[in-house]
This record gives sequence, C-alpha cells and structure tokens, in this order.
Amino acid sequence: MKKRLLISACLMGINCKYNGGNNYIPEVEQLKEKYELIPVCAEILGGLPTPRIPSERRGTKVWNREGEDVTENFLRGAEEVGKTARFFGCGQALLKERSPSCGYGEIYDGTFSGYLTQGNGIAAELLSNMGIRIYGESEIRKLL
Ligand code: SF4
Repeated sequence: MKKRLLISACLMGINCKYNGGNNYIPEVEQLKEKYELIPVCAEILGGLPTPRIPSERRGTKVWNREGEDVTENFLRGAEEVGKTARFFGCGQALLKERSPSCGYGEIYDGTFSGYLTQGNGIAAELLSNMGIRIYGESEIRKLL
C-alpha cells in the first residue's frame, strides 16, 4: 500500500488560493506514483471564501489586509487539517511555503510588504506539534 502524504491543495492545481488561483507545481505528478495524496486547504476548511482578502500572521494572531482579525478561521482550519492527517495516518506533509496557514520555518511578516520572518503558518505549526514531518515545495525532491 502507498504511504499517504498530506498536501496543500493549491500545489495540486486546486484553485483555493486567496486570489482564486493556485500554486501548481508539475512535480506533484511524480508524487502520485509514490504516495496517496491527501489534499487540504486550511483556509477553506476554516470557513473562508475563495477569492478572499489575503492574510498574514503576526504573533499568535492572523489579520487580513483590511485589518480584520481572522485568527478564529485559521485556528478552525488548522484543527480540521489536523483531523484529516490523523484520520488518514499521514506522517508527512508537503505544504506551500510562506503561507500564514501552510508555511513552515519562514512566513510573511504580517506587514503585507513581502518581507519574511521566522515562524510557521497556523496549520503547519499544529501538524508539526503532532509529529508530522513537513516539507515545503522547494524540497519536493526529497520526497520523490
Ligand atoms: S491555505 Fe494552504 S492549501 Fe490553502 S491556498 Fe493557502 S497555502 Fe494553499
């Protein structure tokens, strides 16, 4: 049986990104041969629409560009992603880098100016705390 790999849905070409687009990378086609891919989008699962106003994390909170506190949506989405990972027994995840949900190690700094800071997206942090090994899309070769 193939191992299951949790994956940010936008990396598979699903149009769940804030602007209604996606972050497709062609290498995901090769991943299909080795893994059963389990797609998730924390922001959709947290009740946000697509398209939506982009958000960034600042400390323990997440704010959208209009200054609205969307932390509750991000926490709810992360919980659902965690549940999905547990249900399918995923030990690894391939997540979109720099996102306030999926980013791991480095995220946008909360000023909406394109600057990065050390930190994790809300969903990535929860998955990491569950012991799930997280890869960003620039590390996809490690999974192939
Ligand atoms: S929450 Fe994650 S899966 Fe959804 S659009 Fe953002 S980066 Fe992609």
